[in-house]
Amino acid sequence: GAGLLALSLTATACGQEAVGGSRYKSKEKGGTIGIAMPTKSSERWIADGRNMAKQFQAAGYKTDLQYGEDDVRTQVSQIENMITKGHRLLVIAPINGGAISDVVKQAHEANIPVISYDRLILGTKNVDYYATFDNDKVGRLQGQYIVDKLGLSKGRKGPFSIELFAGSSDDNNTRYFFNGAMKVLKPYMDKGELVVRSKQTKLNQLYTEKWSGSAAQDRMEDLLNKAYSSRDVDAVLSPYDGMSIGILSALKGVGYGTKSKPYPVVTGQDAELASVKSILRGQQRQTIYKDTRKLAKATVQMAKAELTGGKPPVNDTKSYDNGEKVVPTFLLNPVSVDKSNTQVLVDQGYYTASQLK
Ligand code: BGC
Repeated sequence: GAGLLALSLTATACGQEAVGGSRYKSKEKGGTIGIAMPTKSSERWIADGRNMAKQFQAAGYKTDLQYGEDDVRTQVSQIENMITKGHRLLVIAPINGGAISDVVKQAHEANIPVISYDRLILGTKNVDYYATFDNDKVGRLQGQYIVDKLGLSKGRKGPFSIELFAGSSDDNNTRYFFNGAMKVLKPYMDKGELVVRSKQTKLNQLYTEKWSGSAAQDRMEDLLNKAYSSRDVDAVLSPYDGMSIGILSALKGVGYGTKSKPYPVVTGQDAELASVKSILRGQQRQTIYKDTRKLAKATVQMAKAELTGGKPPVNDTKSYDNGEKVVPTFLLNPVSVDKSNTQVLVDQGYYTASQLK
């Protein structure tokens, strides 16, 4: 109806061809980039949106930045709006990677290229590029940190007790993080040197929907009640800082955090301020630093190339199969941060020294 009419008017107004080799390619400068981010409930996405808007504007584009507040329908209607308005390109970090194939099809039909940002859009051919951090490596760094800090990788024998957490089931990254961590942890689990006392080791027992910190706290309280009334837990694999903070609260609630009952080795991800401070206090032990400014930069470069007939930079053409195609990807390098190297965050201007006080 009205939407379709608006779409065809937009396509005509831009003078783009509906079919053929020149789709997406136009020498025309400027226009608006639609940026669909998942939520403001976590710092990183606020920074991602801000960094991209700034960098796209510096490159001569206008930006339309929207946050879906972790609600799939909200995000879908935000993207529909961007298409109706005739934005030139969409950058989307999906809330549910498998639930937006219809709307990206609409984008495709309107000749609007789509870049999947950080999280992969699944089940559709209509995603042109993907920019992200090496998600498998994120998991491996978390797993490695645990076996290093427990001394297992240096020949110390367990058994040590560990509990496992995974992220939201609708986020494709979740299984990459988990599988990456398991590559390191599983051999020790098989040898009985790491023991999951709750016996919850299958991914579908470990999901934390919407990456919720309070859901992680609830589950940790439950695990502590059921499996740790007569022994301590030595490590907790947590994929995301917001969950780690919840997990640490549960631990504190039952008396961890003293000399005789130290916190287990708790991992995390994103180098969020609260977690970096927690690391400096000796509570959370590790986070994964993913410089959102660099991801924004890679994405803006891809978009500029795509819109001006250039070749978007990619460095991985095999890792990310979304079920319909292997999406050409630009992968960035995640960095492990613990108490020994938080200074890197200040040196690289991610935080000021006074923020970390
Ligand atoms: C991102 C992580 C983030 C998580 C929760 C994932 O898709 O890759 O950096 O911690 O979402 O927001």
